[in-house]
Amino acid sequence: MAGSGPRVGVLALQGDFREHLLVLRELGADAVPVRRERELDDVAGLVIPGGESSVMDKLTRMFGLAEPLKARIAAGMPTYGTCAGLIMLADTVRDAITGQQTLGGLDIVVRRNAFGNQNESFETDIAVAELGEPPVHAVFIRAPVVESVGPAARVLATLDDGRVVAVEQGNILGTAFHPEITHEYRFHARFLERF
Ligand code: GLN
Repeated sequence: MAGSGPRVGVLALQGDFREHLLVLRELGADAVPVRRERELDDVAGLVIPGGESSVMDKLTRMFGLAEPLKARIAAGMPTYGTCAGLIMLADTVRDAITGQQTLGGLDIVVRRNAFGNQNESFETDIAVAELGEPPVHAVFIRAPVVESVGPAARVLATLDDGRVVAVEQGNILGTAFHPEITHEYRFHARFLERF
């Protein structure tokens, strides 16, 4: 059931958008899937889900959404990306497929599939000072890491070895892991606080 809170969208071309819709609705938002430009026009904020960034990139361009999305993000629309969504929001992506583009917005360099074959998927607890206790139980699935953070962006969370896995910049939030699949609601709540 749609909530009475802000009307927010989840980019629903590919990936785990259903899980994000459920979390956002659970938090009281009026959350809707976004597949067309007119649906984007109707929302005040957007979540970009996990999935496969190269496919998401192709589909956003094919559906004529890439330019409107870039414009809204640049204009300050609250936006939250998880995993492939974080890649979509990075200004620079390494190990991209040929021709892969991003929407940008975050002053960071991300590397796709940064954990390699041995460590494709794993779970770990991460202390996130901004969120307080308890630590975040983070699930990584063929996840990217943030390799460098420019002056405009801010680190929110790192692994024990110091690698950056969550960042924030103005109205944009990005995590390399998937809170939407672990009942971890605090990142979505932080996104919704922006309305
Ligand atoms: N490896 C994927 C990509 O490059 C991201 C994986 C995910 O979103 N779980 O887009």
